[in-house]
Amino acid sequence: MSINFSEGLNDAAAITSSAVQPEDSGEGSLRPKTLNEYIGQKKAKDNLSVFIDAARMRNEPLDHVLLHGPPGLGKTTLAAVIANEMGVNMRITSGPAIEKPGDLVAMLTNLNEGDILFVDEIHRLNRAYEEILYPAMEDYAIDIILGKGPSANSIHLELPKFTLIGATTRSGQLTAPLRDRFGVTLRLELYTPQELCRIVERSAGILGIEIEPDGAMEIASRSRGTPRIANRMLRRVRDFAQVKADGVITNAVADMALSRLEVDKLGLDSLDRRMLGSIIEYYGGGPVGVDTLAATINEDSVTLEDVYEPYLLQQGFLTRTPRGRCVTRKAYSHLGIEYSGQQEIDL
Ligand code: ADP
Repeated sequence: MSINFSEGLNDAAAITSSAVQPEDSGEGSLRPKTLNEYIGQKKAKDNLSVFIDAARMRNEPLDHVLLHGPPGLGKTTLAAVIANEMGVNMRITSGPAIEKPGDLVAMLTNLNEGDILFVDEIHRLNRAYEEILYPAMEDYAIDIILGKGPSANSIHLELPKFTLIGATTRSGQLTAPLRDRFGVTLRLELYTPQELCRIVERSAGILGIEIEPDGAMEIASRSRGTPRIANRMLRRVRDFAQVKADGVITNAVADMALSRLEVDKLGLDSLDRRMLGSIIEYYGGGPVGVDTLAATINEDSVTLEDVYEPYLLQQGFLTRTPRGRCVTRKAYSHLGIEYSGQQEIDL
C-alpha cells in the first residue's frame, strides 16, 4: 500500500473544514441513532427527551424544532435521532435545494401522519416560498393558487400532522415570522475535548481502528470542538498509523500525523493562523470589520463567520466588538508574536 503524503499536505486546509467533504461520505455509519448514543449537548438532549416523551404520551407529533449552531456539530444527526425516538420517517431537503414553490408543496403533500421534514440551511430558503410554510406549520394546511389574474383559483389542501425540523448556522438570518413558528429552539454548542474523545473512541470502535486513549484525546483536542472534524481526523490519522507505525493510533502517531497535516496543538490550521496574523500585521490587532478582514485574506466572509470564528472565539483568540474583531494576547503568544500593547481594549 502506498500513500502520497505530500498529497495530504496539499489538502491540509480541508481536514479542519467543518463543511462536508467528499471523504466524509462514510459519515452515515458513524451517526448515533438514539439520544443515549448521541454524545454531549446535554442541555439540548435533556429538553428534547422531555418534549419527545410528552408528545408520545399525547400521541401527537413533536412541535416544530429549530436547531442552530456551526456546521458539523450534529444537527442532521440529531434530527434523525428525533425521528428514530419518535418512531417516524424523516424526509430531508435543504433551503437552497428548493428551487420553486412546487418543490416545497410536493415535499409537504408527500408526508405521512407524524413524519418529520428536515430542512437543512433553512435560512437559505427563498423568502417568497417561506410563506407556504406558515400555514403548513401552524394549521397543517396549504393554499395553492392556480392560474393568474382574475381567473386565478385557490385550492385549500389539508396536510398530515408533521414536524418540521429546521437546521441553520445563522439563526439571525431567519425572518421573525418563520422563527416564531418553531415551538422548540435548540442551540448546539462546540463539544469539549472529553466529549470529542468519546466520539473518536466510539467511531474507532465502529470502524475497527485500534486507538489508545491518549491517541484519541490528541485527536479530540485538535478537532475544533466539532465531531465531523474529529471523525475525519481519525480516518486520516489511521492512514499514518498503518504506514508509519504498526496500525495502532498512539499519542505520538496522532501528534505526528496532525502536525504533518498542519493542524497545530490547539486545532488551528493555516487559515486560522493567517486570519489572526493578518489582524495583527495589518490592523494592529484590531478592531477590523469581518468584510475587510475577509478581503485581506481573500476568503469568503460568511465562511470566516460561520466556520472559523466560533472556534477562535471559544478558545479566546478573538473577540467581537461593535467596531470589529480584535485578537487577544493569547493569539499573540500562540503565534509567537510579541504583544505590542496597541490594542484599544484591555484583554
Ligand atoms: P451538521 O448537520 O450539524 O452539519 P452532522 O449531523 O452531519 O452535522 O454531523 C457530522 C458527523 O458528526 C456525523 O456523521 C456524526 O457521525 C458525527 N456526530 C455529530 N454529533 C455527534 C454526537 N453528538 N455524537 C456522536 N457523533 C456525532
